[in-house]
Amino acid sequence: MRFEHETLPQRVRFGAGEARSAVRAEVERLGGARVLVIAAPSAAAVARTVTADLPVVAHHTDVAMHVPVATAERARAAADRHGADALVCVGGGSTTGLAKAVALTAGLPIVAVPTTYAGSEATCVWGITDGARKTTGVDARVLPRAIVYDATLTLTLPVGTSVASGLNALAHCVDSMWAPRTDPLDQALAAEGIRALAAGLPAVVDDPAGPAGRERMLYGAYLSALAFSSAGSGLHHKICHVLGGRYGLPHAQTHAVVLPHVLAFNAPAAPDAERRIAAALDADSALVGLRRLRRTVHAPTALRDYGLTEADVDDAVPAVLDAAPADNPRPVTADGVRQLLRAAWEGAEPV
Ligand code: NAD
Repeated sequence: MRFEHETLPQRVRFGAGEARSAVRAEVERLGGARVLVIAAPSAAAVARTVTADLPVVAHHTDVAMHVPVATAERARAAADRHGADALVCVGGGSTTGLAKAVALTAGLPIVAVPTTYAGSEATCVWGITDGARKTTGVDARVLPRAIVYDATLTLTLPVGTSVASGLNALAHCVDSMWAPRTDPLDQALAAEGIRALAAGLPAVVDDPAGPAGRERMLYGAYLSALAFSSAGSGLHHKICHVLGGRYGLPHAQTHAVVLPHVLAFNAPAAPDAERRIAAALDADSALVGLRRLRRTVHAPTALRDYGLTEADVDDAVPAVLDAAPADNPRPVTADGVRQLLRAAWEGAEPV
């Protein structure tokens, strides 16, 4: 065994019902005396409760998917205008992404309180969208200094969104098995992430109001983000990045639809990864396990349901080819990508 692995410096607190006290402790630890709270309107009420004990200078609710550049500029101006010295973000990946955009230029520390399973809180990756072009980068300044996971805050996440978001996390795990910088630690994290998500997803569908499944999901989402953050983007993430950026498709649903197609494409050329994924899903093969899980939770099936047109399929092929990792387990060809995208577009069963 020979590998290099970087563990990112970050505090993590888990505890259902404990967000308020945990956030206060983390902000105190950072010496935050002027906190800007970032939360979308859907999480604004929760954010007010969670941050009730903090020295808050303003609540910023102007959040948008994929962090448009104008949205980032307005949040940066708010942080500046209010003299903020710390950020607390409460919400999904879009909200965490906005806090990261502020941290990138202002250098402010973030305490992240995730309410979806996107996993952005555990990575150094930022993303800002200018028109149809999404730019991403890696910068240590954007890594939240602390994460507070509280499953009770995710109880309001609708079941359909929870499923899509959970499959987004599962995609982090699966793609981490063969991504460019993958190593045995990433693969161990990813395998445990798959186990947690495969148990949590059906539990959330069965009992959306119960925190047990939600807690498994948050745990799995965190592991998935650790693996993804270290292993980097594999073919799956490159495809979804192209689809999200060029055609404005919703992030989690796009990941949920594309995942089985990339698994079907790569699995025959990545037998070790395939075995690990199958074992984590407790199935004879990775694809059989994923299919079973997707059926159980009524996963999204077709990109055409989310705004991709048939013409977009051909249009996306060159962009995916440009973005595909050179060392993908299976060579990525124009025909292969076209077939994969076509199947994902129409919702065909991946084989
Ligand atoms: P999101 O943050 O847009 O949230 C999805 C929807 O759920 C929104 O309508 C939101 O208002 C709602 N919501 C969130 N929490 C809720 C709650 N508890 N109750 C009710 N509604 C709630 O989407 P997402 O899937 O969490 O994140 C996607 C974004 O995150 C994308 O822009 C993606 O690029 C980014 N992302 C970045 C990284 C990274 O490492 N930088 C990793 C993953 C995702």
